Amino acid sequence: MSSASAQASTASALTVPVPLGERAYDILVGRGLIGTVGSRIAALGARAAAIVTDEHVGPLYAQAFSDALQTHGLRTSVITLAPGEATKSYASLERVCDAVLEAKIERGDLVIALGGGVIGDLAGFAAAVVRRGVRFVQVPTTLLAQVDSSVGGKTGINSRHGKNLVGAFHQPSLVLADTALLDTLPLREMRAGYAEVVKYGLIDDARFFAWCERNWRGIFEGGMERDEAVAQSCRAKAAVVVRDEHETGDRALLNLGHTFGHALEKITAYDSARLVHGEGVAIGLNLAFRFSAALGLCPISDAERIEAHLTSVGLPTRLSHVPGGCGTVDELLDAMAQDKKVKGGSLTFILAKGIGQSFIAPGIEAGKVRTFLMSEIN
Ligand code: NAD
Ligand code: MG
Repeated sequence: MSSASAQASTASALTVPVPLGERAYDILVGRGLIGTVGSRIAALGARAAAIVTDEHVGPLYAQAFSDALQTHGLRTSVITLAPGEATKSYASLERVCDAVLEAKIERGDLVIALGGGVIGDLAGFAAAVVRRGVRFVQVPTTLLAQVDSSVGGKTGINSRHGKNLVGAFHQPSLVLADTALLDTLPLREMRAGYAEVVKYGLIDDARFFAWCERNWRGIFEGGMERDEAVAQSCRAKAAVVVRDEHETGDRALLNLGHTFGHALEKITAYDSARLVHGEGVAIGLNLAFRFSAALGLCPISDAERIEAHLTSVGLPTRLSHVPGGCGTVDELLDAMAQDKKVKGGSLTFILAKGIGQSFIAPGIEAGKVRTFLMSEIN
């Protein structure tokens, strides 16, 4: 892209404010942002930035990004980690914290996460704890990170007791979602992130779901529809986060499709060769609507419409689509019972009265879930 057109696309960046009082920040969405927003980052007043990235993303983008920051007078350093979920570990946290200290990042300086959700969660947590908190900027490079993990301030790592069990709420100072970075994302990762985009429509925005049905090709091909979808998803997530920053109430709506999805991830041993998170979510979204229909809450035609859309995009929708199998009904129930959304003997689900009409449903009897799963497996 020529610098003139890059400037033009920066000028047309979409801005989504996240009004969290003294922790308020903006999400900027647009093509070519990382080459042109050095001034925006410099305006945060930092003198130095430690860029945390992974071995897939770093070679593609870290140099150009670092150069853009240096042009605006920031001292930069780059910390590169192995790609993959295993990087959200105590060992990587130690590495990042020490590298940030070695780079002489002070309280007023920045940690910048340049990567997918793994790097965002890890670098954000390091920023939360180094010097008891330094500011951080999210530069998400996967669709999932642009529409979900970079917004909302949840950071953390995995423990041997489970995923995301050690972490902190630490809001970023800025999120730069450069949609051109998704041009190099593998199609499977693109699809997985797209499941979370669809989720926002299904939660409370039937018009956005219908827009996705018409415009999904543009999102995948990188047209203006991609920017619009990312911005709209961020608006939806920001609205929920602003209502419930620390997840004590209706932030749980964001878990639509995730009770089934997490169970499938667990059963497939978090093996990304078999199932990535967004694929579990796609199956989970379809199951959440089919379960709602089975309980008489929602027309089955809505579930069928969702399944048709997810299928046309190339996402899995059924338990039988899980490579290597989804386990038995008992295994699925066990996996769901260990999900953190369980209270007492009953389960909390996010169910729906229709597309765009989701609600939190506590106290769903395990027996009803069992009956439903048996009908899905057979
Ligand atoms: P990821 O960070 O592992 O990225 C997926 C793969 O794509 C990796 O191999 C990565 O190297 C590669 N990649 C990233 N950007 C690329 C690009 N532009 N071009 C080419 N390759 C690229 O996975 P993810 O799906 O982004 O994030 C998953 C993580 O996010 C999980 O750990 C999950 O727990 C976390 N998450 C956090 C939140 C939150 O609120 N904090 C929300 C949802 C998910
Ligand atoms: Mg998710």
